[in-house]
This record gives sequence, structure tokens and C-alpha cells, in this order.
Amino acid sequence: MYDVIVVGCGAAGMMAGITLAEKGKKVIILEKNEKPGKKLFITGKGRCNLTNNCDKDELYKNVVSNPKFLFSSFDNFDSYKTMDFFEKELGLNIKTERGNRVFPVSDHSSDVINVLQRKLNKLGVKIRLKCEVKDIITKPVDISDNSSYDNEKYENKADKHTSYVTGVEYKNEDGKIQLLESKNVVVATGGLSYPRTGSTGDGIKWAKKLELKVTEPVPALVPLVVKEEDICKRLMGLSLKNIKVSFTALVKNKKKEVYSEFGEMLFTHFGVSGPVILSASSYLTKYFDNELKLSIDFKPALSPEQLDSRLLRDFENNINKQFQNSLDELLPKSLIPVIIDRSGIEPYKKVNSVTKEERLRLLELLKGFSLNISGPRGFDEAIITQGGVSVKEINPKTMESKKIKGLYFAGEVLDLDAVTGGFNLQIAWSSARMVGGFE
Ligand SMILES: Cc1cc2nc3c(=O)[nH]c(=O)nc-3n(C[C@H](O)[C@H](O)[C@H](O)COP(=O)(O)OP(=O)(O)OC[C@H]3O[C@@H](n4cnc5c(N)ncnc54)[C@H](O)[C@@H]3O)c2cc1C
Repeated sequence: MYDVIVVGCGAAGMMAGITLAEKGKKVIILEKNEKPGKKLFITGKGRCNLTNNCDKDELYKNVVSNPKFLFSSFDNFDSYKTMDFFEKELGLNIKTERGNRVFPVSDHSSDVINVLQRKLNKLGVKIRLKCEVKDIITKPVDISDNSSYDNEKYENKADKHTSYVTGVEYKNEDGKIQLLESKNVVVATGGLSYPRTGSTGDGIKWAKKLELKVTEPVPALVPLVVKEEDICKRLMGLSLKNIKVSFTALVKNKKKEVYSEFGEMLFTHFGVSGPVILSASSYLTKYFDNELKLSIDFKPALSPEQLDSRLLRDFENNINKQFQNSLDELLPKSLIPVIIDRSGIEPYKKVNSVTKEERLRLLELLKGFSLNISGPRGFDEAIITQGGVSVKEINPKTMESKKIKGLYFAGEVLDLDAVTGGFNLQIAWSSARMVGGFE
């Protein structure tokens, strides 16, 4: 009989296993894959950006959904404690790179998985691979029948806990459905993104079945699909640095800027991607049905007046050239024909005959190249899942469900997500570190 069953041997599951075993609990982790940490393995392009070297305030700022819920978690285990833990307790050499991103010195995510696994083994945590949990087994609380529920503390919590956990049903290595009993189950099954790594939303399905509140999951940190397919096909592969993106949406019949940021982006065959777009996607979820538009400022460092002077100078230097050959210094090659088409300026026209009106039209395009966004790409391409088990029904100090005694959640299965930079793994480590509080 195990004190606790952890479902999922990803970042949160491994950290929950360590935390509980350190408290003297007898722990078993059930993982459906043939090895632990399949998603961890691909994080940070195989290097695992395991946290961000920053203080708590910075952590909160980078959490997109429900940062307040993480108050106790970050208080208990912030990124400094995480770095200490990996370095001093697990013996992993780490380094901090640009943007305070923390990686193993070896640049191998497998080293992060290995040190966690070694610690689990040392603590005697049993890991069973190729075991897919199918269901969480619960029983309704019967207040009048003490034998159905033997925790003395129950009386005080009767108004909240309507049922309690008795174990899980799982499919073992041989494909047989079996029952494993325990009074405590930690669901650390991740979200729905990159489902081939094993995160197929099982924990969210169980939560719905158990009538727990769920915020509908959507893909986030995800590329965006652009309606103007022809433009994307022409610009596919074009990577832009030092640009500014602004998104506007129709909110209560009024155009409203809903996000803007400087950074790098990339055109793909279906739309736009790259760091600034991925980050933006996490803040745009509620606007995809609101005529969402992207406007790209290709020259954010120049005011319209400065850019106009620059255009005049470039035109002056190319006075006898055709207009289509006058923008080489200003723009990447593949962007020039697209800009020319949109500007409506005759490409073969001599630069000296471009009118002021045409030049100002060009300027406007360079400061605000507009595209219509139809929505995000799917979970297959989303770095994280936004939404999940609602934190409103979770005790932030123990990660226990307020409704179901003995049922805990940690990591991406919860309605918690952050931008890139190591913050999502920090959520997994910190939330898993809080799991517990049972005798
Ligand atoms: C390509 C990519 C790169 C990323 N890079 C970074 C990065 O560098 N830094 C960062 O902070 N974040 C990064 N993330 C996000 C980060 O990986 C996740 O937020 C984090 O892994 C979530 O941890 P988790 O333990 O909650 O879930 P997961 O890591 O998804 O683990 C869940 C585990 O549960 C198992 N499981 C699911 N259902 C069952 C079941 N029914 N029975 C048994 N086992 C089950 C799964 O097989 C899986 O092993 C990246 C994500 C992706 C997709």
C-alpha cells in the first residue's frame, strides 16, 4: 500500500515524488510512456531552460494566468531555491544565459531528467513505466458513516470535501486493467500541448468527470494563423529582428490595442511565429473571435518623420533607378515585392517620379503592415496549454482539491501558465513542491 500515487513522471510528477518521499511518504509514480520526462527532454530545444534567475516579483510578472494562486508556491520554492536545489541537492551544474534563462552547463536536458531520476531512486520512490492511468477512483463522503472515511480531521472539512480518493485504475505493461489503492493521488499529467510527449489532457478529463471546475484549455505560446495566405506563402522563412508588433481587436464595437511588444518574429507558410508572436499568443486567447489584427512596425526605432527623411535620402541616392530597386538598403529582399504590391506604387517607375503621396503611403506601410489573424495553431505546436483544472477549487498551500479529499494537482494540468524563459517549468517545480499536508 502506497501513501500516495503520483500520476505522470514529467517535471511536476518527479518533483512531487521527491517532495513527498523527503517527507517520509511511500510513493509510487505511474507513467504511461516507456521513459520519464519525455517533454522535459525536448524543452529549451533539448537544453532545458529549467528556470529563470530572477526574484519573486519577476516570476509573478511573467505568469499569465492566475499568478496570485502561486503566492505560497513561489514563497516556498522560488527560482533561487530551485537553482540551489538542482545545484546543491541534485548535483547539476547550471548556468545563466541571456534573459536570465537557466540551463544545465552540459546543455543537455537529459541531465536534468537524470538527476531527478537519481534522486527519486535514492529516496526509494517506485516508478512504473508503461502504466497508463485510466481513472481516479473516489467515493462520496457519508458523514453519518464513520467507517467510510476515517480521517478525524474530516468533520471540519465536511462542508468542502464531498468525496475522497481511494485509488486509481490503470492499464499495466501487459495491457491489463488493474486497481491500485491509495488515499492520496497527485495528478501531474500536464496539459494538452505536444501530445506525442504523453500530455494528452487526461487529468483535465478526469477533473471534468469528477465535476471539478475546469477552465477550457486552449493552445498558448503558439504560432498564429494569418488570413492573408498569399502573403504568408511569399514571405515564408523571413525572419525579422527589432520589429514591433501591435494587436488590435474589436472590443464592444471599438478597435482596441490589446497587446504590443518589440522583438523577433518569423513568417511561416500559414502565418506568423517567433518569440514575440509566441508570447503575444498567450495574451490574445480571448480576442481570437474579435476581428484580431496584427500590425508590424518594421522600423520601430525611427519616428515617422525620421523614417520619411530616411526614405528621402534613399530615394536621393537611387534617383535614376526603378522604384523596385530603391529599397534594398531598407528592407529584406523577400519583403520588398510584397511591400511594393501593397503600396500600389508602380514598381518600374523611376524613383524621381514617386510622388509625395506615394512616399507617405509607403511610410505608413512600413510603420504598420497589417494582417488579419484567424486564430492560433493547434496543441501539436503549442508550447503550453492555457486553462486546465481551475485553481479556485484547489488549496494553494497543499494543492489538494477543495472538493475531493486526497486528490492533488501539480504542474500544467492546472489553470496556470507563463511566458517563455523558464517560467513554465518553475510553475511545475513550485506547485509540485507544495503538494502534501496529509498525515
Ligand atoms: C517544445 C517545448 C519546449 C519547452 N521548453 C520549455 C523551457 O525551456 N522552459 C520552460 O520553463 N518550459 C518549457 N516548456 C513547457 C514545459 O515543458 C511544461 O510546462 C512542463 O513540462 C509541464 O510539466 P508537467 O509535469 O506539468 O507536465 P508534462 O511535462 O507534460 O508531464 C506530464 C507527464 O504525465 C504523463 N501522463 C499523462 N497522462 C497520463 C496517464 N493517463 N497515465 C500516466 N501518465 C500520464 C505524461 O506521459 C507525461 O510524462 C516547453 C514545452 C514544449 C512543448
